[in-house]
Amino acid sequence: MKISEILQKKKITLSFEIFPPKQQANFNNVVNTAVNLSSLNPDFMSITYGAGGTTRGNTVEIAQKILESGTPALAHLTCVGNTEESIKSDIQKMKTAGIQNILALRGDVPQGQTIESATTESLRHADQLVTILKKEGFCVGGACYPEGHPESANRADDIENLKYKVDAGVDFLTTQMFFDNNMLYSYLYRLQSKGIHLPVFAGIMPIVNSNQVERMVKLSSAYIPEKLLSICDRFADNAPAMRQAGIAYATDQIIDLISNGIRGIHIYAMNKVDVVTDIVKNIDRIMEAVND
Ligand code: FAD
Repeated sequence: MKISEILQKKKITLSFEIFPPKQQANFNNVVNTAVNLSSLNPDFMSITYGAGGTTRGNTVEIAQKILESGTPALAHLTCVGNTEESIKSDIQKMKTAGIQNILALRGDVPQGQTIESATTESLRHADQLVTILKKEGFCVGGACYPEGHPESANRADDIENLKYKVDAGVDFLTTQMFFDNNMLYSYLYRLQSKGIHLPVFAGIMPIVNSNQVERMVKLSSAYIPEKLLSICDRFADNAPAMRQAGIAYATDQIIDLISNGIRGIHIYAMNKVDVVTDIVKNIDRIMEAVND
């Protein structure tokens, strides 16, 4: 099912993101993760493509397993590492697998490369990929950055550039992780004032161990509020306590977002079924109530 159709039925969606195995030997583990997460009844599940050094080859295969488990799949696809020719063959594979939703991304530039060496001119930015995918009939999403994309000169420029994707026809946007909901609320206000009224899914990353904070800041440049820093400082040496506090923090963020009318919650699951299960337990009645 297309996410645009799900959005017509649901007031607020819940979705999870997983990544493919870094090593082929772990393929079945990731399939089990996907199936277990699917049993929590998300509205859709997304699977990354080549992010953070994962293999690109398994995105379609895992998306197919998600579909077989009864959950709509959103496959990520990047300009980085692709040409128009290789994109055509990826599109064919995705169609054959029954995938109807694609998150169109420029992609992370591999270490030691530049954006010019990692992409071709006709696939330098996500909007060019969106144009190709819309012509092929897919429901297409794009990434957006409440705190601005690290390469953008400023947040205003970033929203101007976001418009290229919007004009190319994206059906929805998924945000980069953020830990302060006010960052999202002011961003949504700025999108509205620039005439961007698309559904936005809020990307929530549960921080369940203190090392994760450093990695996530490096990856996303996200602002870490004092409250989360204190949690990490206080419970860094006690894994079960840190896990519990991190789940509570993510739950609190999600409840606030739902209360303020966000269109979708997208949990960066990091392939951790237990963490997502606990968060879902914390919000299941709330989700039922808002979709009533
Ligand atoms: P773009 O939209 O191309 O934007 C990149 C930069 O260029 C921004 O600074 C933007 O302001 C600017 N820009 C955009 N369009 C234009 C234009 N037409 N002309 C000039 N400047 C422009 N990476 C992966 O490798 N695999 C994944 O699976 C993956 N999944 C992700 C999922 C989400 C929800 C998010 C938020 C990110 C994900 N990423 C993934 C990371 C993403 O690829 C990087 O953040 C990348 O640096 C930018 O991708 P983009 O699609 O936003 O690029």
